[in-house]
Amino acid sequence: MLASDITFGARNRQGRRTHGRSSTRTYKIWAGMKARCTNPNEPRYPDYGGRGIKVCARWMRFENFLRDMGPAPDGMTLERRKNEKGYSRQDCRWATDAEQNRNRGDTVLITHAGVTQCATDWAEQTGIGRKTIVRRLDAGWPIQDALTVKPVSLTDEERKLRFAVRQRLTRAVKSGKVTRARECQKCGRAAETQAHHHRGYSKESALDVQWLCPGCHRSRAGPSDE
Ligand SMILES: [Zn+2]
Repeated sequence: MLASDITFGARNRQGRRTHGRSSTRTYKIWAGMKARCTNPNEPRYPDYGGRGIKVCARWMRFENFLRDMGPAPDGMTLERRKNEKGYSRQDCRWATDAEQNRNRGDTVLITHAGVTQCATDWAEQTGIGRKTIVRRLDAGWPIQDALTVKPVSLTDEERKLRFAVRQRLTRAVKSGKVTRARECQKCGRAAETQAHHHRGYSKESALDVQWLCPGCHRSRAGPSDE
């Protein structure tokens, strides 16, 4: 394997000789990628192979990886364009650490009004927190709303109360005192329902909820998703 590594790394696309070190680094990057995705003993496997991130069949051979990507440019590492996708020619590129940091942890690239960028960029642009944007999208909000509806700001007191009320409800569901409906109690759709405290947040009415699908929950509960 190392012999072919050197052979392939010896010339770049223009046929000029390159030093062998870049191909060695490329080989290490390739081996690391493969290990993360295929070797359960690799410490980072749970975040890659364990999450279903795969290396495409073609890239199980180093020669193919090198042909598709070329040697790793100095200071750049392998990046998947979309975090949920696997490793293949169309989904990977060489990127600087700064570029990687920008994308890492943003599991989604969000396209809105013809612009595709990561949640961090949208947060900077809209003034809505990155976590809020991601949580909204996870909860099924349309992108338009997730990026435009200003969050209601709560006082510490209100936050604490909501937390206590939600905890009380969670305990009641766990103990069987309250049953989570499997269908939305507004539109009737089968869904992963969410509790809407239709009488507002108070300790007295903590268990008095409607179970709503994400769409109805959003329109009933309004923009207060904090
Ligand atoms: Zn509904």
